[in-house]
Amino acid sequence: MQLIWFRQDLRIHDHAALWHATQSGNCIALAVLSPEQWLRHDDSPAKKIFYLRQLETLKSQLNQLNIPLLIKCIPLWKDVPDEMLQLCLRLGINAVHANIEVGVNELKRDAQTQKNLEKHQISLELYHDQTIFPVGSICNKSNQPYQVFSAFKKRCYELLSISLPQGYPAIAQQKKIELNLELENTNISASTYMQSPASDQLQQLWPVTEDYALEILDNFIDSKLEYYQQERDFPHLNSTSQLSPYLNIGAVSIRQCLQAVFRKQNGYFHIDNIGQQTWLDELLWREFYQHILYQFPAVSKHQPFKSNTQKIQWRHAEQDLLTWQQGQTGIPIVDAGMRQMLQTGWMHNRVRMITAMFLTKNLLIDWRLGEKWFMQHLIDGNLAANNGGWQWCASTGTDSVPYFRIFNPVSQSQRFDKNGDYIRTWVPELAHLNAKKIHEPYAYEHDQALNYPQAIVDLSQSRKRAIEVFKAI
Ligand code: FAD
Repeated sequence: MQLIWFRQDLRIHDHAALWHATQSGNCIALAVLSPEQWLRHDDSPAKKIFYLRQLETLKSQLNQLNIPLLIKCIPLWKDVPDEMLQLCLRLGINAVHANIEVGVNELKRDAQTQKNLEKHQISLELYHDQTIFPVGSICNKSNQPYQVFSAFKKRCYELLSISLPQGYPAIAQQKKIELNLELENTNISASTYMQSPASDQLQQLWPVTEDYALEILDNFIDSKLEYYQQERDFPHLNSTSQLSPYLNIGAVSIRQCLQAVFRKQNGYFHIDNIGQQTWLDELLWREFYQHILYQFPAVSKHQPFKSNTQKIQWRHAEQDLLTWQQGQTGIPIVDAGMRQMLQTGWMHNRVRMITAMFLTKNLLIDWRLGEKWFMQHLIDGNLAANNGGWQWCASTGTDSVPYFRIFNPVSQSQRFDKNGDYIRTWVPELAHLNAKKIHEPYAYEHDQALNYPQAIVDLSQSRKRAIEVFKAI
């Protein structure tokens, strides 16, 4: 009997481990819920609810294939290796199949599980599935990992032009298994996450099934990809794919995304328009940060990629941090972004950059505090991408923005939310202001009649302060 262990890959199509498991014999599927571990990793309630909802739909999809899904609650990963062994022995499992996860704790958990199982002649077969190329495989001529995105990307383009990764075939229905798994199972609908009042609201905002994720992908490719390069930076336009939550839990695979990009070229790597190229580049940023996390695990242990930036004297400013977190900084575009995240679990990429740069440069607050807050609230919270994004904005990371190139949030707002539509959506107390005033309300409204805070920091002085602090190291 084979055990297919689902993790951040909740789908039945184009799934490396599921395909290999079903080729080896009859299968039982497993998902492990680890609420305490998730808490330690700062996973947001939105992300957990989203994951559990998709797990429910996966269960019924697997049922149709006669693959029973067993859901076990093991609060901490340190207990997974022993519990996994006991489970395999009880169920008479010969091999466990799973897709590789690149985080430090994930790799440690898997290595120990493998050790335990091997003592009993049970194998743990691990497959590359979450990235386009196996992590660790993209190296320069000196066989070193790339530390700069442009060089990494160039190498990826070379490899993709030789051949695009193909998806795995569909899974055939297996014979029914006569096994009573009821006693092994945790009932997820009884889980506290599912009773959260936010759950219904999230379901409306972020419906989740594998078919739905593929529908989003198709709609994006058909109607938005062509204009992606011109429109992706404008947060009110809804012109990006919004696939990140689905990619993050594996409701859609990275190969399916790639195939979709080249659908009109019959699956051949051929760039016909700038939208196609720009979206591919974004998929490669995702790829880059996962490879970085694997090759430089220190970044997942709260270390900056550039070690000299460890010396930066960040400000301890609890009140400033709180106002940033709550979207009350008095800088409309920053507050709009922070409130969008609090209310929907998602924030537009341009605004993620603006809010992160404002925290780390204008407020000079440690990027790790921002990284944590984002993880605690994003529905697409992902260690590699979130850490990469934060270190880029804080100028502490690989390939990050130079410390002296600090976004001015007001100019960014005037440029990317020209009419103030995005701000009007998320900061309704400013909705009555015209397109000129809305970006910096107190530059015009001296009578203090607005029910909106004054800016908590002077943008020009705080910019100079950040440059001085960075220059000093
Ligand atoms: P699209 O523009 O449609 O891009 C397609 C896909 O490419 C995305 O779904 C995502 O998987 C990937 N992608 C796009 N941009 C990036 C990028 N810069 N880095 C890595 N992958 C990218 N992305 C996350 O998935 N999870 C996070 O926790 C996360 N935290 C971030 C924190 C900061 C401070 C910043 C600046 C960026 C962060 N990003 C994160 C990257 C990016 O903002 C989101 O991936 C993007 O906004 C998701 O929207 P979309 O699906 O419409 O993206």
